[in-house]
Amino acid sequence: VFLKGIHIQGFKSFADSVKLELGQGLSVVVGPNGSGKSNIADAVRWVLGEQSAKSLRGSKMEDVIFSGSTQRRPVGMAEVSLIFDNTTGIFPLDFREVTITRRVYRDGEGQYLINKAACRLKDIQELFMDTGAGKEGFSIIGQGRVEEILTLKSEERRSLIEEAAGITKFRSRKREALKRLDATTLNLQRIEDIVQEIE
Ligand code: ATP
Repeated sequence: VFLKGIHIQGFKSFADSVKLELGQGLSVVVGPNGSGKSNIADAVRWVLGEQSAKSLRGSKMEDVIFSGSTQRRPVGMAEVSLIFDNTTGIFPLDFREVTITRRVYRDGEGQYLINKAACRLKDIQELFMDTGAGKEGFSIIGQGRVEEILTLKSEERRSLIEEAAGITKFRSRKREALKRLDATTLNLQRIEDIVQEIE
């Protein structure tokens, strides 16, 4: 999945509309402490459907809306859009670009949009399910997690990589299929027994 751009407005420290363009390959965000680097990662997770205000380092969802500074009055709405490349057709939509947007107002009302059309959170989750880039896809690794990952046991690290690579769902489908195969083998044996009895 190639994230081409991020458009942030009124989210956390981003009072004004900011458009970030990301190139192919590695992008690095640099800046002094507290300048809003982590807020960008929070913005991405938020659009992908993060529901926990705590994991976005706030106490309620409204905390993601720019709350004012010495020079600026607070704003009434936070809006973030992620612009994904879809020339490879990774998303099953007939567009070369897919834009996912989330908005929230101070009264708690909010909206999700796919290419500017209102949708449900579920639609966004489903869109990302097979791409390995969803909220649970380990595509975003927080500060504390790096150390945690380095100290994982090798089996645990393997399962994390498998999850990120989207292998976990195939593993569980394989488990299901093997179970059905076992049941079918048993059924076949019973049929053979019956056939022998009749003969
Ligand atoms: P560090 O390097 O220390 O991790 P950082 O660059 O990642 O810093 P962030 O944690 O992204 O910084 O940004 C924190 C800043 O965002 C703080 O100055 C905080 O006041 C500001 N901030 C967070 N939420 C809001 C909000 N709702 N309104 C205005 N400012 C906010």
